[in-house]
Amino acid sequence: MTESKYQGKDFLEILDLKKEQLENFGKNDIDLFRYAIKNFSFAYSNDFTKERGENHSFLYKKLKEIEKKEKEEKKEKEEKEEKEEKKGYKLSCGCTVWSRDEIMGASFGSSCADCYDRMNE
Ligand SMILES: [Zn+2]
Repeated sequence: MTESKYQGKDFLEILDLKKEQLENFGKNDIDLFRYAIKNFSFAYSNDFTKERGENHSFLYKKLKEIEKKEKEEKKEKEEKEEKEEKKGYKLSCGCTVWSRDEIMGASFGSSCADCYDRMNE
């Protein structure tokens, strides 16, 4: 992941950026300020300006979009893994195992542990 060029900046400095700059914020920039974006509130009322308020809600919206996407990606990944798990591994001994760890190497190819043991009895 590329590092944000806003590394080390105060969140208030971020809120003072121009709208165009905030629009160009990538995931790495948002990530850097994720905590601040979520939890920021103006400690002093004289810190608050309309622009800063707008910029904060802009960033908040952007973060929410990223989080939504992350959630979808996570779900997709889990579904894909589940599917792969269901497929299992069809082995030369004729059995199907669900995990790679259960595959043994036999002279005729791949074998499950049970058949492997049986052959070696
Ligand atoms: Zn088997």
